[in-house]
Amino acid sequence: MSDLNRREFLRQSILLAAGITLISCEDEKSDTVDESPGQLIGNQPTKKVVIIGAGMSGLVAGYELNRAGHDVIILEARDRVGGRVLTLREPFSDGHFAEAGAARIPPDHDLTLGYADHFGLMLDPFYPQSNYFVNMSSGNRTLIPASDYINEPPWGGFPADRKDFVKIRGGTDKLPQGFADALTEQIHLATPVESIEQNADGVVVRVSGGTEFNADRALCTVPLPVLNRIQFTPSLSDEKIEAISGGYNYAPSTRVFMQFANRFWENEGLNGWGNTDWPEEIWHPTWDREGPKGILMSYMYYGRAVELDQLIEEDRIQHVLNRWDSVFPGVYDHVENGVSHSWALQEWSGGAWASPTADQDEALAAHIGAAEGRIHFAGEHASDNHGWMQGALVSGLRAATEIHERDLYL
Ligand SMILES: Cc1cc2nc3c(=O)[nH]c(=O)nc-3n(C[C@H](O)[C@H](O)[C@H](O)COP(=O)(O)OP(=O)(O)OC[C@H]3O[C@@H](n4cnc5c(N)ncnc54)[C@H](O)[C@@H]3O)c2cc1C
Repeated sequence: MSDLNRREFLRQSILLAAGITLISCEDEKSDTVDESPGQLIGNQPTKKVVIIGAGMSGLVAGYELNRAGHDVIILEARDRVGGRVLTLREPFSDGHFAEAGAARIPPDHDLTLGYADHFGLMLDPFYPQSNYFVNMSSGNRTLIPASDYINEPPWGGFPADRKDFVKIRGGTDKLPQGFADALTEQIHLATPVESIEQNADGVVVRVSGGTEFNADRALCTVPLPVLNRIQFTPSLSDEKIEAISGGYNYAPSTRVFMQFANRFWENEGLNGWGNTDWPEEIWHPTWDREGPKGILMSYMYYGRAVELDQLIEEDRIQHVLNRWDSVFPGVYDHVENGVSHSWALQEWSGGAWASPTADQDEALAAHIGAAEGRIHFAGEHASDNHGWMQGALVSGLRAATEIHERDLYL
């Protein structure tokens, strides 16, 4: 299969799986260098669309609607795009960076991989395939050869195909930036939306400071824990209000990063990765970059993250350092700086990812992504793949298709 055919096959299969209708191969020029995985079909009357949120779901929707000829505006509360894709480049030195949010891409996340390909981004293996991982369990420290760790993970609940996980070379933020580079005139940063009103003629979106944006349709990609900061007129459905009011659980997650003057763990044949029954995942984001400095990261979720979130920054770092003394003996002697990132405490996130109970899912999942009149909804919370960029992309394209195909006057 040629490269173009392979990409087309990939694009068609993933979008069909997501229930998204596709442009046919015949409709495309054979040398379409700018074809995209979620391209919208056909010409439709131009609609004015305001998108709230420049995370992965809002960006992909804005990108495809804009390419399909619609008049798009994206309003983003933060002073950056990407939302829960955030590559930290400070306080690290030597050009090092680490991911506060999305980092690993499983091999079947075809939209994520498809857009990375579309923007010409390079991929690298996510996990090291040599040296030893550390496992700390009940105070016992075991070293696990990389091949065992990535082929037969000793911890349940995680896919076995770790060896095929990849990451975006240079940082995950290159993916949202790929979309944003094509939408420079459409994206308004540091512009929090405060209210969305709809009537028979259209929607009025008002932002902090009072500016109003009029449109035919709005797409709201705001995470549920912070959606109550927007006033809707008329009010949203009972089910959405229940989900917004805490009826649809979110996972908290906090990461603590430390930069070390050298990779002292290598003296013991370790690759800097591991797991503990604290519980936490330990990652070494610089494992494939030149030394001598290195960054290690403690990845905590649920109860452990909540515990850490009670502490001030300095104490979070000290807390992890104290624990790591038994995982990486000598850790105090080499540490240079540290930083933490709590998603539950982020003003425009309020949590890491939607993590509903089975009952919540059954009662509310179908309502969370449902359009209400002229307002459409997307985001990882409105997908069946919570906590992944893939879920955000699928839902963003689903909403973009709804808007594209909806009659202008309805
Ligand atoms: C710790 C962590 C680890 C993760 N790991 C991975 C991983 O390894 N691989 C992977 O694929 N995915 C991972 N994810 C998931 C992935 O990052 C998300 O699913 C995806 O980025 C969510 O995109 P979104 O558009 O749904 O939401 P968001 O990225 O949250 O975007 C919503 C946007 O809305 C903005 N906003 C909020 N309120 C307003 C308002 N009132 N007005 C205007 N704008 C507003 C926010 O600032 C934000 O930019 C991880 C996430 C976290 C938190």
